[in-house]
Amino acid sequence: MIIDGKQTAAQVRAEVKQGVEQAVAQYGTPISLAVLVVGENPASAVYVRNKIKACAEVGIRSIEVRLPESATDEDILVEIERCNADDSIHGILLQLPLPPHCHEQDLLAAIDPDKDVDGLHIVQRGRLFCGLPALLPCTPYGVMTLLSAYGIDPKGKHAVVVGRSNLVGKPLAMMLLNANATVTVCHSRTVDLPAVCRTADILCVAVGRAGFITEDMVKPGAVVIDVGINRVDGKLCGDVDYDAVCAKCSFITPVPGGVGPMTVAMLMKNTLTAYLNRHQ
Ligand code: NDP
Repeated sequence: MIIDGKQTAAQVRAEVKQGVEQAVAQYGTPISLAVLVVGENPASAVYVRNKIKACAEVGIRSIEVRLPESATDEDILVEIERCNADDSIHGILLQLPLPPHCHEQDLLAAIDPDKDVDGLHIVQRGRLFCGLPALLPCTPYGVMTLLSAYGIDPKGKHAVVVGRSNLVGKPLAMMLLNANATVTVCHSRTVDLPAVCRTADILCVAVGRAGFITEDMVKPGAVVIDVGINRVDGKLCGDVDYDAVCAKCSFITPVPGGVGPMTVAMLMKNTLTAYLNRHQ
């Protein structure tokens, strides 16, 4: 069965839209997301456009703050602190990657954790680690939402996560653990990766290499979640050799149209959550 991320993301956005209407009616102030963009990264420009479009669709006000490529950490800090202090702003998103001279971790740490709708602040990560309610990083949160939308309960299952980035692999592993899966995290130094993958009931892949997961690495009937986004001959594809793996697994996410659309939808959900948290 193909997991339709486009449809599930549309559902999430519809739910958020309803939640936004209710919250604004109840508390009387609009919900706002500040999007901080530094420089002119062309990939970021597309992502930022999609985020701003999604805000408009669900009724969240977006405020774009643009800084030149030459902006220093101090310049960016000034904008972050301005957004932190502004009570009319509920979510702050620092679009990554930043120009190479900037210090990403220091800047992310300067965001008010309660406004960290990307779920990348150390406080939110700590809350996730401790199994406490948190603003969750959007892509792994999107994966968990897809599993739930398709009635796939990780409880007791062996989940194998290939990739250990701070953005995807590590938080996804923690979310699966919190959902009572038995979790194995793999990376570039894992010995006999195919053998480990073959033990997975749920195989999640976030590596960034086209066709990395081949059919022989998948257990029959497994759930396969492909987070990868690669461009081959101008065409988007994931980390999984989709056509071959498709026939062997029970569920699979396509690329495009799987995990990708969920990321922005979860950002909208986190922004609503940050607003509601403020009013509780
Ligand atoms: P990173 O490059 O930060 O991490 C890649 C991970 O893959 C690392 O942990 C690395 O291991 C591991 N890896 C690399 N080569 C191998 C190998 N040969 N065997 C086993 N593991 C390997 O990438 P991200 O996590 O940021 O992104 C992963 C993919 O997901 C990319 O394609 C990215 O575009 C996509 N992505 C998609 C999103 C979406 O919205 N759908 C959002 C974010 C990312 P090690 O740590 O040992 O180096």
